[in-house]
Amino acid sequence: MDKTKGQKLKDQLFDNKKSGFEGLSGDKKALVMDFSSEYIEFLNRCRTERECTLFSEVLLKENGFVNIDEVDCLNPGDKVYFVNRKKAIYAAVIGDTMLEEGLNLVGAHIDSPRLDLKPNPLYESGGLALFKTHYYGGIKKYQWTAIPLMLRGVIVKSSGEVVNVRIGDDKNDPIFTITDLLPHLARKQEKKTLESGIAGEDLNVLVGSIPYDDKDASEKVKLNILDILNKKYGIIEKDFISAELELVPAFEARSLGFDLSMIAGYGHDDRSCAYATLRAIIDLKNPKRTSIALLADKEEIGSVGNTGMYSANFDVFIAKLLDKTGQNGYNVLEKTLCNSKMLSSDVTSAADPTYSDVDDCHNAAYLGNGISLCKYTGSGGKGGASDASAEFVAKIRNILDKNNLVYQMSDMGKVDEGGGGTIAYILANKGVDVLDCGVPVLSMHAPYEVISKFDLYNAYEVYKAFYQD
Ligand code: MN
Ligand code: MN
Repeated sequence: MDKTKGQKLKDQLFDNKKSGFEGLSGDKKALVMDFSSEYIEFLNRCRTERECTLFSEVLLKENGFVNIDEVDCLNPGDKVYFVNRKKAIYAAVIGDTMLEEGLNLVGAHIDSPRLDLKPNPLYESGGLALFKTHYYGGIKKYQWTAIPLMLRGVIVKSSGEVVNVRIGDDKNDPIFTITDLLPHLARKQEKKTLESGIAGEDLNVLVGSIPYDDKDASEKVKLNILDILNKKYGIIEKDFISAELELVPAFEARSLGFDLSMIAGYGHDDRSCAYATLRAIIDLKNPKRTSIALLADKEEIGSVGNTGMYSANFDVFIAKLLDKTGQNGYNVLEKTLCNSKMLSSDVTSAADPTYSDVDDCHNAAYLGNGISLCKYTGSGGKGGASDASAEFVAKIRNILDKNNLVYQMSDMGKVDEGGGGTIAYILANKGVDVLDCGVPVLSMHAPYEVISKFDLYNAYEVYKAFYQD
């Protein structure tokens, strides 16, 4: 049946929003599903920023990238990377134009909300051995009780010897958990607010219950745990003070839904964007402008510290690229950054039909409708936002439109409902044109988050098209 005049006009004038799966060809759908399977494998292997950095370094090396400190000069087509203190990694493909004319940057982060062990974690109480923790990033604490947890990270002895801890890779490995009160005795607890129901000091992790076999020794359960750790890792209690041990959800990332359209897993924020960024830079061929992937640490606690996006190590990496391509003029680093453009590849909140009251439905990001551009983040009157210019947003639209890529534009939550931030403003402060552009997530910052497979693959395609422009 022919369309009416009004229907035709609507097709022409309206911004018709729809799922990226609608009308997707079989071939394309197969690409989406294959890419998602590889991502699921990555997510299950890499549960900390250190593990993500190591995985990325190996993959980059396998694909012809070399450590920037091992090369003296760089030419178009060369591929290099730089590891910042084992917790952040940057990769670059040298383009044809002078770096001073500007770089194409895509920046994600590889740290995710979790529970860190306190420096003196191990204690015994009521016949049980437990670890004290200090949560990292913005979490709803009640979500972290009564779920399986893995312990990952490093212990560095005063000699400098590094002990890697990766409990949970083997099916026979133990898991850990934080206990919660049974409902039968939780009358008082259940009257508390969600925010105060579980206090930070209540996030104590159960790690053992067998006493050491000696009737005269005290704290025998704790002693038995230390004995086990000493035999396995050669450590003593004091070694915990120079350790970074993280408790992360032990759930396996899996396909979600009867239609297998989604992925449930820990750490989609921001490893979904980080993985798409990494794959995009690896698959990039002969870019015009030098293209860079940034996988930063510490975003969840404000991008601070020497592995966060504020770190001078980023400037040092760009300075190295300039030096090795023979560009050493006055203020060349600043000029390079002021001419650069960037996609801040960080996840955004997906509209949740159960909690639709927090969203402006006209400006929410919808799961499966493709990557979501975000002109500004921040909260309450755009506080803390870098606010991309109309000109720059138009430029990105143009790249996506000419590559026939699906995308949506969103504003996180209703005005005055709350807000959030990414690394966008940090680069924008250096003079870079930045637009937030990431995968929509349901249950963000929960131990088990949800994304759409279409959005994940779409992010990879968008980042690649941006690099190639
Ligand atoms: Mn994030
Ligand atoms: Mn986050």
